[in-house]
Amino acid sequence: MKKNCMICGEKTTYYFSKSYMANKYWDELDVDYNRCHNCGFTFSVTHQALSETEWENLNARAHYGDEDDIKSKNIDINSLIANKPPYGPMAFTLNLLAKNSIIDTYNSIDYASGYGTLAKLLRKYFDTNIQCYDPFVRDPEPLVKYISTEELSKYGLVINSAMFEHVRKREDLDKINDLVSYNGVLMLHTVICENIPKDPDWFYLTPIVHTAFHTNKSMSFLMEQWGYSDSMYSPAAKSWFLFKDRNEAITKLPRMIENINVELQTEFLFHKTGFVDYWKGF
Ligand SMILES: [Zn+2]
Repeated sequence: MKKNCMICGEKTTYYFSKSYMANKYWDELDVDYNRCHNCGFTFSVTHQALSETEWENLNARAHYGDEDDIKSKNIDINSLIANKPPYGPMAFTLNLLAKNSIIDTYNSIDYASGYGTLAKLLRKYFDTNIQCYDPFVRDPEPLVKYISTEELSKYGLVINSAMFEHVRKREDLDKINDLVSYNGVLMLHTVICENIPKDPDWFYLTPIVHTAFHTNKSMSFLMEQWGYSDSMYSPAAKSWFLFKDRNEAITKLPRMIENINVELQTEFLFHKTGFVDYWKGF
C-alpha cells in the first residue's frame, strides 16, 4: 500500500521486515517497515493496519505486562536497562534546569507517564510535584497526581518519555505538541539518530510496540512545523528539550549551558538552533 510520510508528507517505500517470535508478552507477528525518501522517518506499516482494539491489546500485554513483573519482582532488573528511560538522570536534569530558570516545573505534565515513575522520583528526591497523564493508566496511585483527558490544558513544560516510538498516526504526535504553551518547552526521551539501520536485529526494534523511528532530519521538520526554534540535549538523561521560538530563555541558553557545563565539569548539555543531532548512528 502506498503511504506518505506522517512527518514531511513525502513518498515512503518498503524498507525491511522483522519476524517477532512468540513469548510471554506477545504472539508471533511479521512486521513490514517503510522508510521516507526525504527525511528517513521509518515506521511499521503492519502496526498501522491493526485495529484500535488489536493495538490496545498488544500494548496491554507488552507494555504493562512487564510493569506487573517489576512490581512483583518477577524479572531480572538487568533485562530492563535497554528499554527503560534513565529516570534518575531525567529527574536530576529537570531540577538542574529548573534551578537555573531554563524551565519551570510548576506548570508541567508528564504526558503518557505510565505508572508515574519519573513523578515519584521527582517528588521523593527533589521535592518537585508534576502532574501525570496516561490514556491507558486510569487509577491514580498514591503520591502521583493523575489528570483526566478532560482536564488537559496548556503547559509550560510537557514531558514525553518513550512515546514517540509508539505512535501510529500523525495525530498522536500533534496531540503532545498541542499541550505545550506558545512559549513552552517539550522534553522528549526517545531514540533519534541520523539513519534508521536496515536491520531487523536493531536493539530499538526489540519491543513489539515500537512502531515509529525518528531521524535528526524528521525531528528538524517537526520542530519547524510546530514552531520550536532551539533545542538542547542531555546525554545523561538521554533527553531533548525543544524550545518554542517565543520562549524567553532562548537568547540566554548558550551562556547558561556553558555555565552549567563548567559547574558540572562535563559536557552535560548540548545546545543548537534547530534540532541537536547528537546521535549519528548506533
Ligand atoms: Zn518524511
